[in-house]
Amino acid sequence: EDCPLTLWRFPKQSETSPLQAWDSADILLANTAEQIISQTSASTLVINDQFGAITLHLQSLTSAPISFYSDSKIAHLAYQQNLTLNSENSPKADLIFKPLNNSINDLNKISAEQVYLIKIPKNLDFLEAILAQIHQVAPEDAQIIASAKASDINNKVVKLFNRYFKQVDVSLATKKSRTIHATGKQASPYSSYSYWKTWQLDNGLTIYNAPNVFSRNSLDIGAAFFLPHLPAKPNDFNSTKTDVFDLACGNGILSAYIASSFQQNNCAGELVLHLFDESYMAIESAVKTIEANDLSYVQIKPNWNDCLSDVKDKADWIVCNPPFHQQKTITDHIAMQMFNDSQRCLAKGGKLIIVGNAHLGYSKRLKDIFADCELVAQDKRFVVLKAE
Ligand code: SAM
Repeated sequence: EDCPLTLWRFPKQSETSPLQAWDSADILLANTAEQIISQTSASTLVINDQFGAITLHLQSLTSAPISFYSDSKIAHLAYQQNLTLNSENSPKADLIFKPLNNSINDLNKISAEQVYLIKIPKNLDFLEAILAQIHQVAPEDAQIIASAKASDINNKVVKLFNRYFKQVDVSLATKKSRTIHATGKQASPYSSYSYWKTWQLDNGLTIYNAPNVFSRNSLDIGAAFFLPHLPAKPNDFNSTKTDVFDLACGNGILSAYIASSFQQNNCAGELVLHLFDESYMAIESAVKTIEANDLSYVQIKPNWNDCLSDVKDKADWIVCNPPFHQQKTITDHIAMQMFNDSQRCLAKGGKLIIVGNAHLGYSKRLKDIFADCELVAQDKRFVVLKAE
């Protein structure tokens, strides 16, 4: 609480926003770790820190090597933004800030460290992936300290820790958050966990899903409603080259469907699929989905990004099933950023096609931004809208 850092959420909120860039579980984790790290100078990896609060706090207190792993591009950008902000305007001259000492963006690169600090993710497949990877690479005496809101530390979470570590202690609650302290690797964890999960579409496509990808276990109902309306016929593609942006690509289902229709319908020209997502595991999954389904006659351009930030390429089509949750809150601000970015990135005559929950009112939002917005399909829950 006496932390002298200035921390913002990302994208930056207005000065008056009540939303903070940290929560009580971040403070508890940073405070718990502080004692261990400053006494021992242990090399530490901070995992899943949302806006960089835990990492920057510890970096300001110690010169021990501290690194940062997150699946989220937004978390990386938030960390960078807050690092820069506090390096320049630091009220205390002797704060030591270290640059990212590795820019791991791939779970398999979680390396051997003495201390692992985990902000427990909601997605338990992702938590298991993190624990399995730590179990594989950590030294025998590594310490794992994790935190979350007390209400999110349930039996399933504790069981996962027990699966990989012998000694697992859950703390009492402090300001409605708890820590889990785990040490001692289990000799052989009993688990049916596997990094990839696959499921199939009716047309035979196999969809690959890494642990933190949206809809890892089955087809999203919004995506299912969307598929028949995606560009698929010869007229939908240019005779030379067509650039399709799959914005918020997740496991790549929309791209895979477009690529297989393109081939089945003997469409002409080159097809370039640009895969965008802020989750690295989504990008990884989408690439794997395209490659594993023999769709490699299309070119793919993966782009781990916040919406279409800094994108210079132009799109003939942008297909998008936008996110409408951030944590537990229903929100349309990410979708709005996606629509605005799409308007900037469409080639002349290019089209944005989206699926959305009918009650979210995307039609009005699109009409504010685009000259033309057409209702393509509708049922009780979803709308498909096309904007030009
Ligand atoms: N296209 C897939 C489908 O139809 O099943 C996934 C759609 S899912 C509703 C939304 C996706 O948006 C998730 O994969 C999520 O990681 C991604 N996402 C959330 N915020 C984002 C952002 N700011 N920039 C890029 N992608 C984002």
